Amino acid sequence: MIKISDQANICINEQLYIKPDYLNHKYISGNKYRKLKYNLELAKRLDVKVLLTFGGAFSNHIAAVAAAGKTFGFKTIGIIRGEELEAKAVLNPTLNFAKSHGMNLHFISRTAYRLKTSEEYMVNLRRIYGDFYLLPEGGTNDLAIKGCTEILTKEDEIFDYICCPVGTGGTISGIIASSFSHQKVLGFPALKEGFLDKEIRTFTSKDNWKIIRDYHFGGYAKIDAELIHFINAFKDLYDVALDPVYNGKMLFGIKDMMAKGKLKKNAKILAIHTGGLQGIEGMNTVLNKKGLPLII
Ligand SMILES: *Cc1c(COP(=O)(O)O)cnc(C)c1O
Repeated sequence: MIKISDQANICINEQLYIKPDYLNHKYISGNKYRKLKYNLELAKRLDVKVLLTFGGAFSNHIAAVAAAGKTFGFKTIGIIRGEELEAKAVLNPTLNFAKSHGMNLHFISRTAYRLKTSEEYMVNLRRIYGDFYLLPEGGTNDLAIKGCTEILTKEDEIFDYICCPVGTGGTISGIIASSFSHQKVLGFPALKEGFLDKEIRTFTSKDNWKIIRDYHFGGYAKIDAELIHFINAFKDLYDVALDPVYNGKMLFGIKDMMAKGKLKKNAKILAIHTGGLQGIEGMNTVLNKKGLPLII
């Protein structure tokens, strides 16, 4: 397994720090490696040779599983949402990356994708691909959450707020589990909809956390010129790149809440940078088509 380097938190100002969890590994980046770690160990122990998982065309999880498979000697299969993608001669940067790291891409329609975890579909997949270790979409399961309990360290006890972006809620559940009782964990969802509170409550009985719903920018992977300017200015000022789907929105939210006095005065805040930088290239191709400024 990759040794997780404990990089020092980056100081943005005397109140705000960033945990650069994305610097663990160039491709199996950030929280996706945390979520894979114990799953990969189990797959090895079970002597399963193939990892199978699901995702959209820009998915950080798909990129991470492809890279992890290549690094740790698994074959990988990615079931990708949207069969129209296959028709396109050129794959987007994420899928291109996954393919070049040996992932076998299998495209299915959005309708079929919705039924992907049904018993019938699983039987069908096993008929096609034989035995495999199943990683859920987005990678969240109990072992993934266990991996995410290792993000915070003893030194992080000095912080009053721990902030993290939220997709399925797996990462924040691990962070809540390992948070100190005086700390408040704030989650910034990348999606507009969802039953996150309910979902997170299935993983934790603690209540020192809150979901902040004001900064999703209209929904998953939706961004506007204001957010792009924020991300580019942040990189200019602090030399920290932020992905537009998760960490850009979180940092925008934290800065906005600080400016509006919504966080305790003089509180120390730690933002967990969960990675996702591989998605910038693909996002830029979309922004380019829309005539929006690009992410630098
Ligand atoms: C997947 C992902 C998240 C969300 O993690 P969940 O455990 O699904 O909530 C956050 N940040 C990045 C960069 C991700 O790739």
